Amino acid sequence: RRPSPEDLVEGLNPQQRAAVEHRGGPLLIVAGAGSGKTRVLTHRIAHLLATREARPGEILAITFTNKAAAEMRERVEQLVGPAARTMWVSTFHSACVRILRREHAALGMRSSFSIYDAADSQRLMQLVCRSLDLDPKRYPPKAFSHKVSDLKNELIDAEDFAATVSDSNAFDQALASAYRSYTQRLQQAHALDFDDLIGRTVHLLRTFPAIRESYRRRFRHVLVDEYQDTNHAQYVLVRELAGVASEGWDVRERAQADWAAVDETSEQGGAPGAALPPAQLTVVGDADQSIYAFRGATIRNILEFEEDYPDARTILLEQNYRSTQNILNAANAVIARNSGRRAKNLWTAEGAGPRIVGYVADSDHDESRFVADEIDRLGDSDGVKPGDVAVFYRTNAQSRSLEEVLIRAGIPYKVVGGTRFYERREIKDAIAYLHAVANPDDAVNVRRILNVPKRGLGDRTEGQLAWFAERERISFAAAVERHEEVGLPTRAATAVARFAELLAGLRAMVDGGSSPAEILDAALDRSGYLAELRASDDPQDASRVENLAELHAVAAEFRDAAPDGTLVDFLERVSLVADADQIPLDDGGRGVVTLMTVHTAKGLEFPVVFVTGLEDGTFPHQRSLADPEELSEERRLAYVALTRARQRLYLTRAAVRTSFGVPNQLPASRFIDDIPRESLEWRREESATEAMRRGWAAGHGGRSRGGDHDGDGDFAPAFGSGSRGERGGTGPRTRADGGVGAGTGGGARGVSERGGAAADVPSLAVGDRVTHDSYGLGTVVALEGAGASSVAKIDFGGAGTKRLLLRYSPVTKL
Ligand code: ATP
Ligand code: MG
Repeated sequence: RRPSPEDLVEGLNPQQRAAVEHRGGPLLIVAGAGSGKTRVLTHRIAHLLATREARPGEILAITFTNKAAAEMRERVEQLVGPAARTMWVSTFHSACVRILRREHAALGMRSSFSIYDAADSQRLMQLVCRSLDLDPKRYPPKAFSHKVSDLKNELIDAEDFAATVSDSNAFDQALASAYRSYTQRLQQAHALDFDDLIGRTVHLLRTFPAIRESYRRRFRHVLVDEYQDTNHAQYVLVRELAGVASEGWDVRERAQADWAAVDETSEQGGAPGAALPPAQLTVVGDADQSIYAFRGATIRNILEFEEDYPDARTILLEQNYRSTQNILNAANAVIARNSGRRAKNLWTAEGAGPRIVGYVADSDHDESRFVADEIDRLGDSDGVKPGDVAVFYRTNAQSRSLEEVLIRAGIPYKVVGGTRFYERREIKDAIAYLHAVANPDDAVNVRRILNVPKRGLGDRTEGQLAWFAERERISFAAAVERHEEVGLPTRAATAVARFAELLAGLRAMVDGGSSPAEILDAALDRSGYLAELRASDDPQDASRVENLAELHAVAAEFRDAAPDGTLVDFLERVSLVADADQIPLDDGGRGVVTLMTVHTAKGLEFPVVFVTGLEDGTFPHQRSLADPEELSEERRLAYVALTRARQRLYLTRAAVRTSFGVPNQLPASRFIDDIPRESLEWRREESATEAMRRGWAAGHGGRSRGGDHDGDGDFAPAFGSGSRGERGGTGPRTRADGGVGAGTGGGARGVSERGGAAADVPSLAVGDRVTHDSYGLGTVVALEGAGASSVAKIDFGGAGTKRLLLRYSPVTKL
């Protein structure tokens, strides 16, 4: 039996019920996290269908992610049955793609237009800048790409922009011509970038009234979830689709007019300018959860909704149905410190629940181990299933150590919105090099790297080598060595000779007793693999370099734990975690642990949540520390993170975190300080001795050999990656047990002295100005080491002073 309209409002509180039953003018539901906004949207749709006020085809519901769209469709389907399938429930982007595929002719586009993702459009911008002969130092293509995106989100096209640029502004002039040429190239390629999907749809609706009317006739109900994250273009799109009540339009007449409009269906697309009443618009959001300012989202859209839609009704929801009071107290306290917000206080009828658990780990690895141990323990003692648990981090690079520990602990997991570390292309490539060096018979891996990075060895050469190997009954690698006998064309022969030399050189390192870390470094340097990634403007390549730095850290860690370990030992260890088949899958419907960034977690909920990396410089992100607006956004992000938890919340941090291959000592996140003491229980705190030691270190400047320490508190290899692997206890480390200056020296030791040519390491001098992909502009204040192992201390102003292992750092000399 289908639920009756009355069933659909049962169990809702009076405000929720009012929101579901509201009819007429625009409706704004603003409310804190977990107060049932999404639930109200879902029930409202079901209610409209159950009362037969709307047919499924007349509903357009917009969510922020495809996952959320699928969930909403499923929930409505559960409520009203399969008829729900003809509804449009989608993200802004997919809705626009659908409209553009139908209406392409009006815009003079092929229906098969292609869609450029962020990486594609950055690459295109790079080509444009090159052909315009723009100096990449003064006019960075990446910055242009972002600017163009910002302009598009404001619906400012290339011509509009060019018209506003003054003759004296060289930067904007360059930008204007790049924007124009970028636009032309997209057109020639019959391609649209992500921002165009919205912008072109807006243009379509504005330019062709008949088309606009046909969509307005069709969608009598427009509902938008996560409205706080719409940008200007999306805002205008909603307004174009829904329409705005013309002045004097009588709301009470609207219901009738609606029906009239629906009845005279829209074969002719409706007469332009016909007085069609606006669609019923429902938007729900929470200004405190606006976390996409970097994509042009503006809280203004929600704050000024009432001004823009004078006949709008606003409903506030305050009861939270998701979390315990302890979790809400923490979230309320963190967000309360943002200024210029409407105060609201979430409460729950569910009771206090267990206290939030805090944990301070020595290192990122120890932090991951705590997470894994705790997931195990909860399973044993409380029957918590892996599927009940989510682990959040601020940036994707933080997932590696978590993944590794979870794999070793046999806990099934998935990474949402990213590829698992050991499945990433660059990691597989790097490991393939090591396999090829360790085992010449490993044809698969030798063949994998034959033309990686590109050395002009295509399928043809590979085929000839393979054929020769077969004929001679030798391995593929042996065929590479005997390339002179294969009869290759000169150019290929030269390239193969170089490849053979490269492998031989690396094998000699193995015989000479080099550590796996050194061999890895040499492979990446001598092959030119790292240099190629570093030279690229593609942001994906920058994150590939970061991932390789992570792999370097794995190898350095291995060396510290097992100084006599061979390359084969290392590969064995890595294969155990790298082999996808070893990763346990969901066993018997118990689900898998979800790993994701906080951004991806918006709108979701889990019984158990771990928020990791709560350090100033990680979360809040380093970039935000000097900028109050960005810091407010980080605070909203923290609010989103905390409010995902239903019953149990864990907050963890690492005293030392390795990034770009160098360990950094980071202070506790300021967000932790805001949480009321009585809601938080420390499972392991930074010990008094440790805090003292830090103070002591700061007071004394460098404190151990080799100038490893600069005393400014952002680098402390003394108890860094050391012997993490075997350390048994998790008790607080004290000075007595070797925490200080004992010289396990994870950092500088993680650097190879014999690592090879390292042509890609920028040669810097004290005083040089540099830019870093994440930290921005900086000045070199000190240098240590040489060649591949150089470490630079760079002052990034507001972003702080950082010690960076140059080989793996996205640093460019200006
Ligand atoms: P967010 O801001 O995080 O997107 P939200 O406001 O959309 O949160 P929902 O996800 O709709 O909140 O609801 C949070 C949880 O509370 C869900 O599990 C939902 O089913 C439940 N819930 C909401 N309202 C009620 C209610 N009246 N009775 C019982 N459970 C409810
Ligand atoms: Mg929601």
